[in-house]
Amino acid sequence: MADSPVTTLPDSDAKAAILGVVEQFWGFSELRPLQLQAISAGIDQRDSLVVLPTGGGKSLCYQVPPVVADRMDVVVSPLIALMKDQVDGLRQNGYPAAAVHSNLTPRERDELRMGMRENKFRLLFVSPERLLSPRFLEYLKSQNVQAISIDEAHCISQWGHDFRLEYRRLAELKQHFPNASIHAYTATATKRVQGDIVEQLGLRQPRVIVGTFDRPNLVYRILPRVDMYRQTLEVVRRHDKEACIIYCITRKDTEAMAEFLTANGVIAAAYHAGMEKHDRTRVQDAFASEQLDVVAATVAFGMGIDRSNVRCIVHASMPKTIEHYQQETGRAGRDGLEAECVLLYSGGDVMSWQRIMTMSAERANMPEDSLKAQFELLEHMSGLCSTLECRHHALSRYFGQEYEQDNCGACDVCLGEVEGMKDATTVAQKVLSCVYRLGQSFGVGYVGEVLRGANTEKVRQRGHETLSTYGLLKDQNEKSIANIIYQLVDQGLLQRTPGDKPVLQLTDGALAVLRGEREVKLVEPGSAPVHTTKAAEHAWEGVDKGLFEHLRELRREIALQRSVPAYVIFSDAVLRELARVRPTLLEKMSHVQGVGAKKLEDLGPQFVEAIDEYCQEHELSTDEQVEVIVRPRSNRPNPQKETAMRMFAEGATIEQVMSATGRARSTLTGYLVEFIESQHPESVQPWVPDAVYERVVEAATHLAADRLRPIFEHLDEQVPFDAIRIVLAHHAAVSSQR
Ligand code: ADP
Ligand code: ZN
Repeated sequence: MADSPVTTLPDSDAKAAILGVVEQFWGFSELRPLQLQAISAGIDQRDSLVVLPTGGGKSLCYQVPPVVADRMDVVVSPLIALMKDQVDGLRQNGYPAAAVHSNLTPRERDELRMGMRENKFRLLFVSPERLLSPRFLEYLKSQNVQAISIDEAHCISQWGHDFRLEYRRLAELKQHFPNASIHAYTATATKRVQGDIVEQLGLRQPRVIVGTFDRPNLVYRILPRVDMYRQTLEVVRRHDKEACIIYCITRKDTEAMAEFLTANGVIAAAYHAGMEKHDRTRVQDAFASEQLDVVAATVAFGMGIDRSNVRCIVHASMPKTIEHYQQETGRAGRDGLEAECVLLYSGGDVMSWQRIMTMSAERANMPEDSLKAQFELLEHMSGLCSTLECRHHALSRYFGQEYEQDNCGACDVCLGEVEGMKDATTVAQKVLSCVYRLGQSFGVGYVGEVLRGANTEKVRQRGHETLSTYGLLKDQNEKSIANIIYQLVDQGLLQRTPGDKPVLQLTDGALAVLRGEREVKLVEPGSAPVHTTKAAEHAWEGVDKGLFEHLRELRREIALQRSVPAYVIFSDAVLRELARVRPTLLEKMSHVQGVGAKKLEDLGPQFVEAIDEYCQEHELSTDEQVEVIVRPRSNRPNPQKETAMRMFAEGATIEQVMSATGRARSTLTGYLVEFIESQHPESVQPWVPDAVYERVVEAATHLAADRLRPIFEHLDEQVPFDAIRIVLAHHAAVSSQR
């Protein structure tokens, strides 16, 4: 099914055109792995299935082709909130996109109609229902749509974990648009789901592009749950002022959790599908605009959440499949910076899920096979929790991929945090013999009471305080004992009878332990020390944290003014780099990854000024070296740049160089500034007329400013930023020679 990626790479001209667009709108100078393949499938209009992990950069893959190919593509997306955020984000970058859905305001609808008439948009986001409505179909057919991308494509498959009925009809697309290519995108899809997507959408000889599932920037920890609330509080406190999501199974749990955290000084809100719609929207918006950082939620909180700087995901209970776990933890660290994922696990979670699944299967009249399949997925999940193997390793293997490293340096096992219990075999023997003495006819709670030596009425009635095993574990608390019992269940030493009131029974393995023929390993319940990873230390190297917070504040204000989520202004990765480089000149800021031309013009002046002020006040050095991205091909010559430099030396105009190299104007202006700074040409007449030069220098002298914005305004916004940049560079270069 897959064809070799080598044959699907574009030639160097096409690649230059792609990079030019990426640089112009997003300010990225490199593509992530497999983005190039996915983008060129879009440009070539070859059907494709792209499976990249959350945060892998899928959106770029369908956003770039219509710009390069100069056309309007359609993107199918399941949720309105998701579309809105994407469109907001794209507009901040100067990218023409629009969404079509039922919640448009009259003004938005007018804008949409007008934009469509002017053929302005490159991307149109639309829900599956809307796309397949007869009127809209007719319209799109008349527009001669050439490519359709489908986001969250796993929703079309019954074998996936998030099947959506309204996605099923997308199977009709190929009939309606026989000449358009279809591009399916998803983050989690096992082989079976991949096959199903290809078949249902009727993809023709698709390019199948599958990335690695591993997320190296996530630190995984799976701890025995002793006290859900205290343990969660401890984790969340490690992430002061950072975004955390706490996943709970029930609605009631989310509310209790939010209340507990708030009572302990961590402001948190609950979110679940049972809440009023406007309450849900309020929580979502507050989280997106960074007014709120901690949310305790059911899985209903997810798909619409695009905040890229979520630093911590806590699972207060075990999710029911590894796919869910991967998807939910995947919401952390989408900006590529380190994030922590903590799962609090108890063997009791497995029984709870089995009960819930059985009940809902009965209610829905589900075939027996289907319930069995669910139990299988559940077993994989609990297997992940109860083995003491590298978490990155185990997750990769589940999705059918090799994990190369021996020590990931980013999970509790590899960081050496998982503490084995001392005398585990003796402790196990105490528990097992207590189960035996109690005639194998009591549940977890009661066995625990006896082991703890509880003086309760039930114990006295039954005369169990006289048993030899009474009070054997009196130094442990109730929750720790329950956790130990569940660990023994996970290891197959105890089993619970099915039904409403399960009782504990010994297995053959248990007998071997009691006879002293078998060793047992147990994890110490409670919290082990948490180590800092190397990656985390590195990420903050040279970053001024005070300035970082200051810039976050500025971002929050701007986001609020513009009514957009904060992360569409700048990602945390960009803010961190700004707080490290501390640029006070736009020129310097333009080299920071993630600062595109539009944002430089639009937000640059404000940020540069804030940085300058802050650094003066706090006596910080400014304009540090911009980090060179470590990349295997970094020494490769850049032919476009060489061509540009040569042509500038010959006096070619920017327009001439643009058509020769295919690079964006902003990129070329950057090269030209470099050329001017290094070569000190006598004049910049080929690029800026003398008269304009004079006016800019005059304005700069008059204002005693070397920032673009004030000069731009002083000149009645008539001289473009590029020209001001060129003049300032030249003026500085010749002055320094004098
Ligand atoms: P996905 O949809 O696969 O979960 P996104 O498209 O939301 O991922 O991208 C995740 C993050 O990575 C975004 O903040 C995006 O701006 C960033 N990103 C995407 N491509 C690149 C790139 N080539 N270089 C740097 N950052 C990128
Ligand atoms: Zn590991």
